[in-house]
Amino acid sequence: MRESFEIRATDAGGRLGELTVPRADVTVETPALLPVINPHLDTVEPRQLETEFGAEILITNAYIVYNSEDVRERALEDGLHDLLGFDGAIMTDSGSFQLSEYGEITVTTEEILRFQHDIGSDIATPVDIPTPPDVSRERAETELETTQERLEIAEGVDTGEMLVNAPVQGSTYPDLRERAGKHADGTDLDVFPIGAVVPLMNDYRYDDMVDVIAGAKRGLGADAPVHLFGAGHPMMFALAVGMGCDLFDSAAYALYARDDRYLTVRGTRHLEDLSYLPCPCPVCTDNDPDSLAALPDAERETALARHNLHVSFAEIRRIKQAIRAGRLLELVEQRARSHPTMLDGYRALLAHADQLERTDPVSKGPFFYTSHESARRPEVLRHHRRLERLAVPDSVFLTEGEASSDERFDASWRVKPPFGPFPRALSRTYPLTAEVPDRRDRAALEAAATGVTRLVEANPDSEFTLGHRGWPDSVLETLPASVATLDLTTALYADEE
Ligand SMILES: [Zn+2]
Repeated sequence: MRESFEIRATDAGGRLGELTVPRADVTVETPALLPVINPHLDTVEPRQLETEFGAEILITNAYIVYNSEDVRERALEDGLHDLLGFDGAIMTDSGSFQLSEYGEITVTTEEILRFQHDIGSDIATPVDIPTPPDVSRERAETELETTQERLEIAEGVDTGEMLVNAPVQGSTYPDLRERAGKHADGTDLDVFPIGAVVPLMNDYRYDDMVDVIAGAKRGLGADAPVHLFGAGHPMMFALAVGMGCDLFDSAAYALYARDDRYLTVRGTRHLEDLSYLPCPCPVCTDNDPDSLAALPDAERETALARHNLHVSFAEIRRIKQAIRAGRLLELVEQRARSHPTMLDGYRALLAHADQLERTDPVSKGPFFYTSHESARRPEVLRHHRRLERLAVPDSVFLTEGEASSDERFDASWRVKPPFGPFPRALSRTYPLTAEVPDRRDRAALEAAATGVTRLVEANPDSEFTLGHRGWPDSVLETLPASVATLDLTTALYADEE
């Protein structure tokens, strides 16, 4: 077990955890949001992040500190906590971002880690190579090798109680991300940022982002705390948590505020396009769009940044509550409705249902079927697997209706879309207690038919009859030919005649 991270609860790939940061003597509850602080700008003061928003951890850029003589001297003399006026944990980024934006930087891994230690960072970052999406495989591999060499150097630097990040790169090659994850996990470094995903998020490529995270997670151990580097829009927090990310850093709250942009969990709005402020935070209850627009620039920027932070922290709390209640995927499903690209992201997540199933609890709050995507959730997959292991008598009536008294059958099992068949004795067990709409969709029936097929194929010596309520022929045709079918809706008519 990793000493610094403890998982308290899981739901799908998401987890509630505790990251212990010894140098700050702070325990951070995850999922956690790290607001990004620029030491030169005071959009929202770090102390206020603590008092108004409950921030337990923030992130600042060590390279900016290093590059400004005045700030550097004060940081070295008094430490970052005094400089910023923040008692929580402070993570520092190394400036790899500057490397990718502005060309080479001139400091070594040892120097940059020592420097972060000397200014009082609690979690430091080595200088990795943030390989952008879609580069050649050759470049991604070469740069990954350099990043891995630097992680090995970082491992050897004496950093005392300071935790050290082990960034996971590999561009848009999921197998390289997996290899990078495995390598990083094998070091004795502490926190695992998935790097260089910002260009994917800027281009709304949430499906590719999900595949990148899935790759990294396959390589990393289940107990590794994972940071989605540069992920700051509350719209996608639930999706990323569902994939197993624990930490986020938001520069978005400040950057967007500077451009009069207003964050919501359903996307971004421009202040001038809003007739109302659809948010219960103090900024939005004390103002309307006109009063905000009338503020002097700096005050308006701070007001919007505060709103953006309120929205972001509220979403993190909502996600934590959803994990606790076993309702995380329903929240992801709701967020997926805010933009077609978010729906792509959710569908990509469901393509990894197999991977998520491993951490999904066997029992939790009721399963709500709220869209045809629900038919692909990990719980459905798990039930289908379980069907292959159940003891089955010689002749079974699988039915959406009442149990049959026909002596031809040894047993009557229930059929419930999207899960498919199960013995009546399991009716009150999770997830078969699911709330499912009466107006079933095709995806639910297809998934139920898959369940029937799994059961039939695992028991070739048994006979099965399916009593269904009006399943279309195109779904019935997917069943093995040996299954007899009976349409209960027309059978009912036949009885009445
Ligand atoms: Zn607000």
